Amino acid sequence: MASDRQHGGDSGVGYRPVMVRLPRVLTALLVGCAGPGACTTAGRNAPADDAIGGTVTVDGVWLPRWQAIGTSHGGRPLRATRLGHGPRRVLWIGGIHGDEREGAVATAQLPHRLLTEPGALARVTLTIVEDANPDGTAQGTRGNARGVDLNRNYPAPSFQPNRFFGMAPLDQPEARALHDLIVAERPHLVVVLHAWRGDHFVNYDGPAAALAQRFAVRSGYRVQPSDGIAPTPGSLGSWVGGTLGIPILTIEYERGTEPWTAWFDTRAAILAVVLDDER
Ligand SMILES: [Zn+2]
Repeated sequence: MASDRQHGGDSGVGYRPVMVRLPRVLTALLVGCAGPGACTTAGRNAPADDAIGGTVTVDGVWLPRWQAIGTSHGGRPLRATRLGHGPRRVLWIGGIHGDEREGAVATAQLPHRLLTEPGALARVTLTIVEDANPDGTAQGTRGNARGVDLNRNYPAPSFQPNRFFGMAPLDQPEARALHDLIVAERPHLVVVLHAWRGDHFVNYDGPAAALAQRFAVRSGYRVQPSDGIAPTPGSLGSWVGGTLGIPILTIEYERGTEPWTAWFDTRAAILAVVLDDER
């Protein structure tokens, strides 16, 4: 197929560059590059139709092309990459609580897995935000550099202003960056990774019950309804699912799970929901 040749082909197994064109509005959102050996030339002043995202190879090793969609309080980039050119838009968020990094390998491995799945790149456009709270990750804290829980800073009706959740919705730069990306992208599905003490499950908001069930069947995780969890005012899930009506899955790995184990346990389920695969 012409489109396969243009994009390097689904059989490229991750060792050939895969270039992806972003919608004009998204191109404008991506603000320069970040990450060793994986920068692109597209930035705020780049032509709107510049081809960005995708992959590069350095010394024979496949690397995503990361770009910053924003900057944290501490000056760290919120890195994003994009794979595929299919009609189904999926946004993957590798983490939002800095002390919950059990899903880090899943985020790192997902691009490779997608590149090796026949036909996947023609079915889905996958945007990956590596970490929505890079300061928290660097510090090993739940909140960002100002101690704000970014998963309470979204403009849902349940938002509660205080110094731990932010005094107003989106008053934290990390939350604003993700908000702007989601508004521009209007994904068909958002997946966000967390970790929970002493348990693992998949939670959902918005019209995602069937997807959550599909994830549960493939992973052995159970579906935990939102109303069975502690209140989460102003959470990403309540805004994306409740306010925008976009399906969002929250994957809760068990705290302390070895990240490679977490990936192996859930990779089939992840692929099934990312590709909307009913097999
Ligand atoms: Zn969490």
